[in-house]
Amino acid sequence: MKKEIRVRFAPSPTGPLHLGGIRTALYNYLFAKKHGGCFVLRIEDTDQTRYVANAEQYIIDALEWCGIPFDEGPGKNEKKGPYRQSERKKIYREYADFLVSSGAAYYAFDSAEELEKERKKWEIKKEPFIYNHRTRNELHNSLNMGDEELNETLSSGTPYVIRFKMYDEGAHKETMKTKDLIRGDVSFKRSLLDDKVLFKSDGMPTYHLANVVDDHLMEISHVIRGEEWLPSLPLHVALYEAFRWKIPKFAHLPLILKPTGKGKLSKRDGDKLGFPVFPLAYKNEKTGEISKGYKEEGYLHEAFINMLALLGWNPGTEQEIFDRKALIENFSLDRVSKSGAKFNPDKAKWFNQHYLQKIEDRALAIQYGSFLKKRGHELPLERIEKVVKLTKERAVFITDFWTLSHYFFERPQSYEVKAVKKQWKADTSNHMNELKKVIEKLEMFSAKNAEQEVKKWMQKEEIGFGKIMAPFRLSLVGALKGPHLFDIAAFLGKEETLFRLDEATKALSKIS
Ligand code: GLU
Repeated sequence: MKKEIRVRFAPSPTGPLHLGGIRTALYNYLFAKKHGGCFVLRIEDTDQTRYVANAEQYIIDALEWCGIPFDEGPGKNEKKGPYRQSERKKIYREYADFLVSSGAAYYAFDSAEELEKERKKWEIKKEPFIYNHRTRNELHNSLNMGDEELNETLSSGTPYVIRFKMYDEGAHKETMKTKDLIRGDVSFKRSLLDDKVLFKSDGMPTYHLANVVDDHLMEISHVIRGEEWLPSLPLHVALYEAFRWKIPKFAHLPLILKPTGKGKLSKRDGDKLGFPVFPLAYKNEKTGEISKGYKEEGYLHEAFINMLALLGWNPGTEQEIFDRKALIENFSLDRVSKSGAKFNPDKAKWFNQHYLQKIEDRALAIQYGSFLKKRGHELPLERIEKVVKLTKERAVFITDFWTLSHYFFERPQSYEVKAVKKQWKADTSNHMNELKKVIEKLEMFSAKNAEQEVKKWMQKEEIGFGKIMAPFRLSLVGALKGPHLFDIAAFLGKEETLFRLDEATKALSKIS
């Protein structure tokens, strides 16, 4: 029987998730769903010093908004739980002990002062101090103690950590070879690596031990995570070997880079670059600082996800629009690139504009309607829907509707100066008065009819198109923008159109 595909997203609750974190979750989710597998959420909260109380809820809320549901995780389908490492504390000790008893790890009693002394010693030699096969034999650890001394030291309560014996001449091959699904073959020189701490003196495992033990116990088949964890790969593989466990497949995702330059887009960038780096707004409880989120900025989750999916993955075709179903169908790790992906805030907007167009006019009208109501404009939904239909094409966000269509609901307060200078000539006021007469005579004031009659009049009088249309638009809108002019006029109605023409003529004839 083929083994089930099981992947996990394993964030540490140290603050809000940045969009790179969401992308990692997304790729895990897409990979799992494509293969009919299981997507696990595991909260890696062993580092109590970096723990932030509201961060776990933030992670869960963010995944929910993005539409990346986990199959197993805290509070959900806890088959292989608990899924919070702080609740699994008891489990890790046993595994650390196993490594010590099998000779793969050892107790290290070096105090902070002893280590500092060692560091100084190496500084003189102009070399960094590394706790490894070259130094461990002279340090304060169980490898250099007899059984009696070790037992005494342990029972005296001397604080200790458990370190992994990364390289031992004779016991290990110096070069370690492994495979990454995105990077291909990777090799490391085991002898250059240090003896990492697996278990801390506070009774908590370090990230490395807890991560590997949990991936094993949760039967994770593929570890898909950010490139920043690539340096941990040799230790993790060595741990699997030391436990004699089946090694999962690894895939390290490329970094997300700032829009310009080569730097990594980091949490610290906050809103400094002019766009949010977090899915949801986040309030730092300590500093009170609030960072913006895509959700609150008016992004649609479908757009956000589509944009993120293409940051590092490409389908191998020109296609850019992928809904969730299409993403699941098309996603594959072998089309994830090795090199960093530059974040492009304009592209994020482009996606949003695209997805906004797909929302039914009525649904947009309902949302826009509640905004209009707050501004004191209560009108039938059909009327709002009409405006939505006329202006939607240019809207990137729902909040754009007001900028794009305020003149449907409110009379111009002013007239765009540059346009007036260019379009309101000496004879314009006369033309507008004539236009008013044409309109007054119209019995039916539909867009089509009004357009026909006005054009007929212009032709008969041999007045150029531009001479009428631009100032007419200026009168109704206050600027030279907006959809088809006669659609605007028809929406406003005959009386309001005449009123605005009148107002503009009064205001602008003095200027020109
Ligand atoms: N807890 C790690 C993080 O915060 C998880 C790394 C991994 O996926 O192995 O990103």
